[in-house]
Amino acid sequence: MTSVRGRPLELESDLVLNQRLLQSVGALMNETLEVGQDVANYCTDDDELKKETQDLMLTFVNMEDDIKQYTSALNHVKKACLTVSEDPEEGESFTAKFTQKLHELRQRNGGENQHHKHAKFEELTSLFMDRGSIEEQLASLRRALVGDADDSQGDLAMTEVDVNTRCPYTGCTMEDPVRNKQCGHVYDRTGILTYIKQKNARAKCPVGGCGNVDPIQASHLEDHRDMKRYIQLLSQSQGS
Ligand SMILES: [Zn+2]
Repeated sequence: MTSVRGRPLELESDLVLNQRLLQSVGALMNETLEVGQDVANYCTDDDELKKETQDLMLTFVNMEDDIKQYTSALNHVKKACLTVSEDPEEGESFTAKFTQKLHELRQRNGGENQHHKHAKFEELTSLFMDRGSIEEQLASLRRALVGDADDSQGDLAMTEVDVNTRCPYTGCTMEDPVRNKQCGHVYDRTGILTYIKQKNARAKCPVGGCGNVDPIQASHLEDHRDMKRYIQLLSQSQGS
């Protein structure tokens, strides 16, 4: 039951591999967004470059789709594998089941048109839209950022009119802001990673009065693109 000629084991390692591939594709999508941000900031009129960035994102969306279908087909076969007992035809039926399922999934999928509706593609496209003057962009980002803080801190943030661009740990203006998914607090990546390394299991959120008692782990942190953009625009508006 646990080992039908070792196939479930092979399946497991394929599934693990697919999981890693998905993570890599996700990271590539995020990097493409970073590139898109630079294109939007510094190559405003280069439509060719924008198109290339969008095409690149579509390639990754396509890959993600393939890997997900492959994973579903593997899971389908894994289930079948565990319920089927010794069977000389099993080797053949294994491949047939897999191919059949993969075919089914591809048919059911909406095709490449759906790829334009992928959240990462939409995020990239929105970067290329005319976003108005720096002041207008700052104002709309400020609304979004204060709204965010409001969600996680309750009434406390209501009285804060301005966006805090300083890292609560280093006290410096953040260069690469990351958000703690557990409590919503934002820190500079380098600073907070140093803090985690020093404190390990005692690396509680450094924001005073934060209700999050879990030690911070690198996996709790996510890029805070809006904050990064806000800080970049702020320095542009002050510098020029
Ligand atoms: Zn916190």
